Amino acid sequence: STFQELGLNDDLLHAITDLGFTKPSEVQEKAIPILLGSETDLVALAQTGTGKTAAFGFPMLQKINIDSRTTQGLILSPTRELCLQITNEMKQYGKYCKGLNVVAIYGGSSITDQAREVKRGAQIIVATPGRMKDMISRRMVDISKIQYSVLDEADEMLNMGFKEDITDILSHTPDEKNTWLFSATMPREVATIAKRFMNDPQEITV
Ligand code: AMP
Repeated sequence: STFQELGLNDDLLHAITDLGFTKPSEVQEKAIPILLGSETDLVALAQTGTGKTAAFGFPMLQKINIDSRTTQGLILSPTRELCLQITNEMKQYGKYCKGLNVVAIYGGSSITDQAREVKRGAQIIVATPGRMKDMISRRMVDISKIQYSVLDEADEMLNMGFKEDITDILSHTPDEKNTWLFSATMPREVATIAKRFMNDPQEITV
């Protein structure tokens, strides 16, 4: 199939053309119609390098209201490097979404600078769990209107000991949001998180 057939809008298709992506990867082909087609939770078993960032990124960019400056999408990832990589990809994918602001939040860098960026109005925040929790407790960020949350590399985040931080962060988001969990493996801890925070998720494996 083509990206157009998956139901992506013209702004995203334009960016996809610029990037030179000729056809959807397997995880994109499976995830994008599910996420665009309904308000659902999703568990996706997918390794890095499969194109999973676009698999959750395109639907998030299409579904949020860019005319509003409210933070509507939250992507949690295990490391600073991944956080910056995802932020960069989201900015590229959303380059024709006028008014879009994607902000990265991660440790080891000025928290006041990051708070200032958030304050300008970020529809999407990409964060590592520790710094995110810190900024929530200092009231530097409001995630009470989140509609879409992504747990990326969920197995890695749990391996790194972020279970408590993730639980704390999600407790500050609305119950009605959708959660999309991506993981390379499905150990018991990931299944437990999925069961605890997700509502009858659809499942895909690539
Ligand atoms: P990811 O698994 O999200 O880290 O993506 C791996 C790499 O594949 C990234 O550099 C993307 O820019 C690229 N990519 C994602 N989707 C596609 C696609 N459909 N066609 C070609 N490259 C892609």
